[in-house]
Amino acid sequence: MSLQTDILVIGSGIAGLSFALKAAKYSHVTIVTKKDQAESNTNYAQGGIATVISPDDSYELHIKDTLECGAGLCHIDAVEQIVKNGPHLINELIELGVKFSREEGKLDLGREGGHSRKRIVHAKDLTGREIERALLHNVNTNPNITVLEHHTAIDLITEHNLKSKKNPEEINCYGAYAFDELNNQVLTIISKLTVICTGGIGQIYLHTTNPAIATGDGIAIGFRSGCKLGNMEFVQFHPTSLYENRISPSDEQAFLISEALRGAGAVLKTRDGNEFMHKYDSRGSLAPRDIVARAIDNEMKKRGDDYVYLDITSLGESKIKNKFPYIYKRCLSIGIDMAKDMIPVVPAAHYMCGGIASDLNGRTSLTGLFVLGEASMTGVHGANRLASNSLLEALVFADKAAKVCEVEIKNDMHKCPGDIPEWDESGTENAEEWVLIAQNRNEIKQIMSNYVGIVRSNLRLHRALRRIKIRSELETFYKKTKITRELLELRNMALISYLIISSALKRRESRGLHYSTDYPELSKKYLKDTIIDNRKL
Ligand SMILES: Cc1cc2nc3c(=O)[nH]c(=O)nc-3n(C[C@H](O)[C@H](O)[C@H](O)COP(=O)(O)OP(=O)(O)OC[C@H]3O[C@@H](n4cnc5c(N)ncnc54)[C@H](O)[C@@H]3O)c2cc1C
Repeated sequence: MSLQTDILVIGSGIAGLSFALKAAKYSHVTIVTKKDQAESNTNYAQGGIATVISPDDSYELHIKDTLECGAGLCHIDAVEQIVKNGPHLINELIELGVKFSREEGKLDLGREGGHSRKRIVHAKDLTGREIERALLHNVNTNPNITVLEHHTAIDLITEHNLKSKKNPEEINCYGAYAFDELNNQVLTIISKLTVICTGGIGQIYLHTTNPAIATGDGIAIGFRSGCKLGNMEFVQFHPTSLYENRISPSDEQAFLISEALRGAGAVLKTRDGNEFMHKYDSRGSLAPRDIVARAIDNEMKKRGDDYVYLDITSLGESKIKNKFPYIYKRCLSIGIDMAKDMIPVVPAAHYMCGGIASDLNGRTSLTGLFVLGEASMTGVHGANRLASNSLLEALVFADKAAKVCEVEIKNDMHKCPGDIPEWDESGTENAEEWVLIAQNRNEIKQIMSNYVGIVRSNLRLHRALRRIKIRSELETFYKKTKITRELLELRNMALISYLIISSALKRRESRGLHYSTDYPELSKKYLKDTIIDNRKL
């Protein structure tokens, strides 16, 4: 089975949907998405979108906060681009029907860690769900956009798939193969331009705020085809996910307790009720996420505790219920009344700062291939993402990419060759040993959580590198096994884990989210992105 389209978008979170709506003005867009169309990291975002609106705020301050958080690795041009384009793109979202929270008619602004001003536009504590709802409504009524749910992109189509050309100097992308899970077949999607918008990687860790779709597929797919990657060692752990004393199924998502609570006055305490953040940073509980996550990790290890507490009781019941209705309800469902009780929290893998390297328009190192959102490394986040800058980054880069794609489509700059083969599954058979897949998935999560977490060391990273050799075993299994989504995800998770470990080993210093007990200091020598080029490996 094959189909042709002008632009193929892989993923239906904020990056994919906002790009598609703009690109549909000049082309036909096909979106493939792994599960139901709303299932994405975007759908779970709570806090909101950082943007300069308040009269006491300025672009300079937002830029300064972002650079400080990024620990020397942010690209200033990328940071300026997201900050300066924020306000008008927030207005566009409002025009598309997104209903942000207001107070006395004006947008209500929240504050989060690392921000020197109140600048988080939000829809109560369900911002992502509201954005996703409005974008999907517009996408589903647009005749130029086709959405294919339950289609998992497997790999890109490039010269390597053609019979005619092998090992070219310049790699062109002509679309992708996607596994249609409901009909159990592989679709060949031929497109002039392809845009990877597949989100993050949280599922390679045992404890993550990310939903089950976040297995790093797009980054792995891009890398296999020759894309350059950057800064894969910088995995952000959110300091506060709800601690629930139970064994979780292997791909369960930890419930996030938004940073906005700390912005509203919540403080972290040890289990015996003592505040501890002032020992680590003068900003206390509102210090940037890497510092808070490390402090919690340290307190838990030192005291042998499984969690710490977040105390927001001082805000009062009516404000808590009004500002955080969703979090309040979820906590209450397990017997915690936030107005009276402290909330048990633990850090969880949350956001990938690295990804496929892109320029200021989302272009990758492959011709005809773009990357947007969490799967990209644009230079905005550097070594650590400032809270609520990621939805903003996705919006702004989608807008820029849509503009350059318009020129390329209108000038008919990309021709697809006629000899693109359909997917060949000869020589593969149904696996009988499904237990192997579940076992390998858990093994990867264990390796990454135990050895490549918040605090790293050479010993742990080298051990992780040795253990992740199951990757080669998996490649052999993959080549002779009929495709399933689980198998595709497992293959990608193993590759992503390997790439994170390799990048972490290259960075012999502690910077931002990468903290090594062997190299606890910053080093000028490493004041640069960690680039991994598949063609040079
Ligand atoms: C709990 C939580 C709270 C957050 N809160 C905030 C916040 O307040 N502010 C903020 O700025 N950021 C927040 N973030 C981060 C932010 O939500 C994400 O970085 C952002 O939504 C990423 O958008 P995206 O479009 O790049 O990816 P996603 O929204 O994750 O979308 C990825 C899409 O790709 C699809 N996909 C994946 N693999 C494949 C494949 N192989 N084939 C086809 N489709 C595929 C998925 O199904 C999905 O549709 C939060 C994240 C989480 C998890």
